[in-house]
Amino acid sequence: MVASTEQSDTARQFIDEAGLDNAVLHAQARMHTPVVVTDAAHAELDRHGCDGLVAIGGGSAIGLSKALAARTDLPQLILPTTYAGSEMTDILGETDDGEKRTRRSPSIQPETVIYDVELTLSLPVAISVRSGINAIAHAVEGLYAHDANPVSTVMGLEAIRLLKTALPAIANDRNDLSARSQAFLGSHLAAGVLGMVSMSLHHKLCHILGGTFDLPHAAVHSIMLPYTIAYNSNAARAALAPLENVFAGDIARGLFDLNRSLEINETLADLNMREVDIDQAVRMALANPYSNPAELEASALRTLFKMAVNGEPPGPSSKASSH
Ligand code: NAD
Repeated sequence: MVASTEQSDTARQFIDEAGLDNAVLHAQARMHTPVVVTDAAHAELDRHGCDGLVAIGGGSAIGLSKALAARTDLPQLILPTTYAGSEMTDILGETDDGEKRTRRSPSIQPETVIYDVELTLSLPVAISVRSGINAIAHAVEGLYAHDANPVSTVMGLEAIRLLKTALPAIANDRNDLSARSQAFLGSHLAAGVLGMVSMSLHHKLCHILGGTFDLPHAAVHSIMLPYTIAYNSNAARAALAPLENVFAGDIARGLFDLNRSLEINETLADLNMREVDIDQAVRMALANPYSNPAELEASALRTLFKMAVNGEPPGPSSKASSH
């Protein structure tokens, strides 16, 4: 069984209550799935002859389980406790030599997922709301994905509606079981979108910030989303149009204001990203082409990062062209 260190008590409790007497707990999962952590867990798994994987926790624990499944093809049982949504995808993002690389494979897709809303009650409000915005990011980018389809669009819009209602309620009362259930459903739908269609600029930039600059995943998604949506808002106007009602016209500004209302006030600078790091991040963002509604341009990306480092409100779209 794998978990992050902070969730080792919860994992032990699960092992006791489920009567998994022979289970081996490896509670050393880390964010961005470093390969060295997977190597150590793999060695332990081999030593004990484990015949299945159980993960309890957020995307870090689930990432370790998926990395082990990719190597061993063992079946996975996942109990998610955040809204990151990794449990629903066949995607693995692993970090090695300061770079995060993603791949897809059927062996990575978890076989069984149990959503137990009570497991999320201990998730602090600050992590809950950032994790919820991470889920919104999957759903929003899914709307303008080049391979979006009517099903992914319906799922994404419903995910955004659920999360936009649930997150303020959770911020108001972390024990609000009904809001927690709504948020879990929203995150499940958003994760379904993430698994079904291709992500674009927003996820690419967050991978760079997480994998290379080691910034925390959910906080980075929350900070970046208003700026990446501003960047794409003209080029993806038609795909984003259904959100104009949800965010009172200006979607990027609406996402920025939602952050503020949830007390997500930090900037990339607060997470130790410096202006001198921007050129490297821009170079990486342009290194491997990927699909995005607006054209990728170094100077516009530099401006985007600068605004996120300093926490300026997003302006009107800096990009008008589509391809
Ligand atoms: P995380 O798993 O590190 O959890 C964030 C924090 O919340 C940690 O400190 C953790 O200990 C704590 N926590 C989790 N559950 C808790 C609970 N119930 N009570 C109290 N504290 C709790 O981070 P995350 O944001 O859930 O996931 C981020 C990771 O997941 C990143 O590595 C990211 O790349 C990956 N991810 C992958 C996919 C995919 O499809 N491959 C999708 C989303 C995220």
